[in-house]
Amino acid sequence: MSHVIHRSLAQVPLVAVGGKGVELFDQAGKAYLDASGGAAVSCLGHAHPDVLAAMHRQLDQLAYAHTSFFTTEVQEALADHLVTHAPAGMTDVYFVSGGSEAVEAALKMARQYFVEIGQPERTHFVARRQSYHGNTLGALAVGGNEWRRKQFAPILMDVGRVAPAYEYRDRLDGESQPAYVARLLAEIDTKFQELGPDKVIAFVAEPVVGATLGAVAAPAGYWQGLRALCDRYGILLIADEVMCGMGRTGSLHAVEQEGISPDLMTIAKGLGGGYQPIGAVLAQRKMVEAMRRGSGMFQHGHTYIGHAMAAAAALAVQQVIQRDQLLPQVLARGAYLQKQLHARFDAHPHVGDIRGRGLFWGVELVQDRSSKATFDPAFKLHAKVKAQAMAHGLLCYPMGGTIDGLHGDHVLLAPPFISSEAELDQVVERLGDAIDTVLAQQPV
Ligand code: PLP
Repeated sequence: MSHVIHRSLAQVPLVAVGGKGVELFDQAGKAYLDASGGAAVSCLGHAHPDVLAAMHRQLDQLAYAHTSFFTTEVQEALADHLVTHAPAGMTDVYFVSGGSEAVEAALKMARQYFVEIGQPERTHFVARRQSYHGNTLGALAVGGNEWRRKQFAPILMDVGRVAPAYEYRDRLDGESQPAYVARLLAEIDTKFQELGPDKVIAFVAEPVVGATLGAVAAPAGYWQGLRALCDRYGILLIADEVMCGMGRTGSLHAVEQEGISPDLMTIAKGLGGGYQPIGAVLAQRKMVEAMRRGSGMFQHGHTYIGHAMAAAAALAVQQVIQRDQLLPQVLARGAYLQKQLHARFDAHPHVGDIRGRGLFWGVELVQDRSSKATFDPAFKLHAKVKAQAMAHGLLCYPMGGTIDGLHGDHVLLAPPFISSEAELDQVVERLGDAIDTVLAQQPV
């Protein structure tokens, strides 16, 4: 009997005993092609020798020193690396241990900024429906995901909510893309007016939505319009790149492809590639200067911030990505994956949409392609696809359920940057087989 409180208490999961490259192995010796890297974490695959070597070196030197006494060379080196490659104006880094912690820190830094500059009346955040920003209370509050929030709603802060930029379902028939973008921005403006633009701290969103919809990027012009709208009212813009960042979409940060710099940006997952738990907030200099001039500190902190082993692992992961020129490879292999997904699923009667960037792809499953009608939630298609894919030796990341009033079944793919074309062929083949096997069991 397991004494671990597993995520699902219905059954104890399989035991993972090893990993090498793009594969994970269970206790029975079965190999799984890891096409989701957990949840877009394992960007270099498993047991990368250069990362392991860097971690061993750091362990021999120093595993941990508390940041209220010391900084470490490795933490400073990682911050230098991140700032060198950050969007324009993002000059400072705050390290944490994961994505939710990064979002919490960004929310608090944003609030503290306004207190320090004499605008304490700013108390609201605005975020989008069908979004995910983490599971701690602040992150859960800004996330738009009712099944995760339901039990905790009475104890969550109130957040202004607007539509996601989800073109496949929300762009109206006959509506041009610019008109759709203008409608989305007008809704955000209306929400700012409703709350009082001088009462809003920040707008929070994922540049490419991951864990709720599966690799949905906003239409062209949305982020530039959002940046301009936030600037008009002095509202901060927080880009949550915990899942879509660190090279996953083919540029180090997804916002680079939008041509904007946020005020704050959260990163995690691919930052450490799963070799250590680590996340970070990248901040514009004005945020840090306001805190330095005001309280003299960021009123926040965790025991493991700037953990030396975590920083060593992340620095090694990022150096490998640069040295091996993996970002162009993400674009090239991503284009290949896109082509193979279209070849396999374009004519599939139950695949409504294929979308993504780089090596971050989503496949949306529908009962009927022309009406976009979803499957009966009771069928739990996404969960069945996950189990069937594992039976076929594939790890993918299906998601579904009813999220903010919208039901859906999506499969997210986030294979390692080192995946070969032959391995991506296998991903598509096994996913197609898993989907077809499950759909053949569909009640008629
Ligand atoms: N933000 C986004 C966009 C995410 O996708 C996630 C996790 O999936 C989080 C935050 C939370 O990260 P973590 O699970 O590391 O706490």
